Amino acid sequence: MAAPWEDVLRNEAAIQEAASVAVDAALLEGVLMRTEREPNASDVVNYAPFTLLPSVVPSALFEQAYAVQQDFNLLVDAISQNKEFLEHTLASTIKVDDFTARLFRIHMQVLEEGLAQSVFLGINRSDYMFDCGVDGMPALKQIEINTIAASFGGLTSRTAAVHGRVLKVLGKSEEASRLLPNNPSKGLALGIAKAWELYGSQSAVVMFLVEEVQRNIFDQRCVENELWNRNIRVIRKRFRDVFEKGSLDDAKRLYMDGQEVAVVYYREGYVPKNYDQQNWEARLLLERSRAVKCPDIATQLAGTKKVQQELSRPGTLERLLPGRTEAIARIRATFAGLYSLDMGEEGDKIAATAIADPDRFVLKPQREGGGNNLYGEELRQVLEKIRDSPERTSYILMDKIKPQPAMNYLLRAHSPLQVSECISELGIFGVYVRQDKEMVMNKAAGHLLRTKAIEHADGGVAAGVAVLDSPYLV
Ligand code: ADP
Ligand code: MG
Repeated sequence: MAAPWEDVLRNEAAIQEAASVAVDAALLEGVLMRTEREPNASDVVNYAPFTLLPSVVPSALFEQAYAVQQDFNLLVDAISQNKEFLEHTLASTIKVDDFTARLFRIHMQVLEEGLAQSVFLGINRSDYMFDCGVDGMPALKQIEINTIAASFGGLTSRTAAVHGRVLKVLGKSEEASRLLPNNPSKGLALGIAKAWELYGSQSAVVMFLVEEVQRNIFDQRCVENELWNRNIRVIRKRFRDVFEKGSLDDAKRLYMDGQEVAVVYYREGYVPKNYDQQNWEARLLLERSRAVKCPDIATQLAGTKKVQQELSRPGTLERLLPGRTEAIARIRATFAGLYSLDMGEEGDKIAATAIADPDRFVLKPQREGGGNNLYGEELRQVLEKIRDSPERTSYILMDKIKPQPAMNYLLRAHSPLQVSECISELGIFGVYVRQDKEMVMNKAAGHLLRTKAIEHADGGVAAGVAVLDSPYLV
């Protein structure tokens, strides 16, 4: 599918000019990141990496991704409430993966004590690629669903304006006018605001739980601003602060420094390196509290790759979403092939297949944040080493999705301007709020398109591989 601006791609002078306009537009619009050198100061900031041009996305697949988002919200929420399913699904994983095991232990402890939380807020992002099947027709295939700290809803709310400007500079005003409005930060904030309201204490605050290193602070500030605009007070704290200053009262209300917290929005806590012993204690304190956690620990577990793999087994969706035949069909249509490496015949067989033909697969550990998956020769070597050991159960196997590349320029501070062969990943943000058993909000809140050069098998924007993009529907 050719973009309507192919003619200018090789016009060096026009591209140079457009790139300098693009960078200034990004800075003006607030597509910003702190620098690697000073990740915790805003004295010097730079633009977040982005594509010079939007990328072509088939409109039918784009609509399909939006149409299935509410179904995924329901599914994630159902999994989070299904103790038996999580227990059974993660049983083999937690024997060999310490991080998942620790999360799971907190989950069980909180359930045993009895949940103090009655309002639940989910913010997720379901990511897809457009797989070129044998017939050449692109199909929407889910990469994963992120149920904790799904990022870039803020910055991506500002990229369409930048791409609009670039297209105009290149003489493509008509195309510029067709770029879609997109504002996930508002949708995410509406979910947080609803949860805050249902929590029911005017003086309570929303706490963003943030990492020690905060390069991506502007993305979070976009959501934060939307809350301040609604007169909701926001504080930013780290696990360390919670450990030192967090407490629960008799009714398990959470206080930080004497201030009641209604909602804890995690932008932290999704990888092992986020935790030391104190941080684990802080996490437990938060989970035991009555505050609305986004996500609660069960919802975080619902987003593990092991759960994703189990969902693809025949009959699992039917058990989790009884009676919802149409939703199940929409969800299942987005699944790529997923395979368990649990010990036994099924696992032995797929391990042997992957070792013989590694380019067909991706080997995934239970990790988030990009850069953890194994491909090709490396996949073969690792799998060969662990094929007879229970260690293999800490991974899943997935069919490799093969999208059609397109040419674009990736703009990164201090990098030369050069054309690259690229592939894109579309994310749809989902937001839902449940009070006890009743869903009071269930929405798709906007999209994120990320694009990377094909030589990188893995890695997101934060990992320095992918860049922000805007879809151009055809
Ligand atoms: P993470 O939790 O680290 O983000 P993902 O499952 O999203 O893990 O994988 C990271 C990246 O690896 C994706 O953004 C995508 O570029 C690539 N990737 C993951 N799964 C596949 C797949 N099945 N086929 C092709 N590329 C994949
Ligand atoms: Mg991912």
